[in-house]
Amino acid sequence: INSKLPNVGASIFPVMTGLANEYKAVNLAQGFPDFPTSPKLISLVNDYMKKGMNQYAPPPGILPLRERIAEMTFNLTGKSYSPDKEVTITAGGTQAIYSVIEALVREGDEVIIFEPAYDCYAPNIRVHGGIPRPVELTPPDYKIDWENVKKLISHKTRMIMLNTPHNPTGTILSKKDIDELIKITKNTDILILSDEVYEHIIFDGQTHHSMAKYPVLAERSLIVSSFGKTFHTTGWRMGYLLGPDYLMAEIRKLQQYAVYTCITPIQYAIADFMASPEHYMEVKSMYQEKRDYFAGLMRNTRFDLLPVAGSYFQTAHYNKISEEGDYDFAIRITKEFGVATIPTSVFYTSNADHKVIRFCFAKTEDTLHRAVDRLMKI
Ligand code: GLN
Repeated sequence: INSKLPNVGASIFPVMTGLANEYKAVNLAQGFPDFPTSPKLISLVNDYMKKGMNQYAPPPGILPLRERIAEMTFNLTGKSYSPDKEVTITAGGTQAIYSVIEALVREGDEVIIFEPAYDCYAPNIRVHGGIPRPVELTPPDYKIDWENVKKLISHKTRMIMLNTPHNPTGTILSKKDIDELIKITKNTDILILSDEVYEHIIFDGQTHHSMAKYPVLAERSLIVSSFGKTFHTTGWRMGYLLGPDYLMAEIRKLQQYAVYTCITPIQYAIADFMASPEHYMEVKSMYQEKRDYFAGLMRNTRFDLLPVAGSYFQTAHYNKISEEGDYDFAIRITKEFGVATIPTSVFYTSNADHKVIRFCFAKTEDTLHRAVDRLMKI
C-alpha cells in the first residue's frame, strides 16, 4: 500500500505499557493516573445513564457542559467564550488536536512545533499535507530561543503549536514567551494551536499563561484541554476546544463527520461535577504533593532530576548511570529493573538523544515508592 504515513510506527505509550505488563514492571511510562477518580463523579455518570441520557448529544456537546466550561474559563482567564459557538466538546485532547489541524492546515502550509513535541503533532500535520518546522529545545531548561522561531517564520507559516505545561518536559511558557509570541504574530495571519491539557497542574505558585488571557492571541488561538487530565479519567476520552467563532465553525464542520458527537451521560455528569470549582482547583495541590514526594525519593538514586513547573511528568538525566541511547536504556531498565519510563528522543523528529527519560508521577505513593526502590538498585 502507498502509505500516507510511511515512517510512523506504533506510538511509544502503548508500546511501553505493553512492555511494562509483559515484564511486570512498575509503569511510570504512559501518562495516566493509577488512583481512582471521584466516586461522586462515577455515581453521577451512573445516574445519568439510569435517567436515560444514552442517545446522541448535539455534535458540539451538550449546552450545560459548554456553559460550565465557559464560566470556568472566564473565572480563570477573564476571557468570555460563547458556549453556543466557541466551545466544543471533543473525544479527548488528541481528537481536538487532530480536528484543528484537519480543518485549518492546508497542503504546503508550514507549522512550527517545539521539540520535544507530543507524539501526535508532527504526523497529524504531515497527513494533512502540512510541513512541520521544528524548533529544538534542549535540557536542562528547554527554553524557547525566539530568534530561532523568527528565522522559520515566512508567508508559508500557517500555525504555531504550543504546549504549556509541556509534555514531556514539564516546563511552562513565561510572560516573556507570551510577549515574544505577541510580537512575532503581530500583523500576520498565523494561527496558534495551544495544547493546555495540563492547565490545572502547575507548581510552586507559578502562573499558567493561557492564550485565553491575551486578547490578541486569543483571537487567533484554538485552545485544547482535557477532562482526562483534570478528573483522572484518561479512558473516558473527554476533552474540549476553545476558539473564536470563525475558526470553530470550520472545525465543527469536520468534527461532525469524524466522531459526530461524544459520549452523552459523561457530559452531563461532568457538567454537574464542574459546578463545584474545588473539583478542578484542588488538582494543583494534589499533584504538587506527588511531585515533591517523588522528587524526594528520587534523591536516593543516581538520576539527576530536571526542573518541573507543571504537568504530571518528571524528566531526568541518567548520564551517571549509562552511556546508552535513551531508547535502549528505557527498554533495558524496564526488563532488568522493572520500571517503565519514556525515552524523550522519540519526541524529536531528528531523534535527538539528550539522555533524558520521562517518569509519570500521577501515581499512588505506594506505586512511586515501589518504583524508586527498584530505581535505587540501578
Ligand atoms: N498523554 C499521555 C502521555 O504523554 C498518554 C498518551 C497516550 O497514551 N496516547 O503519556
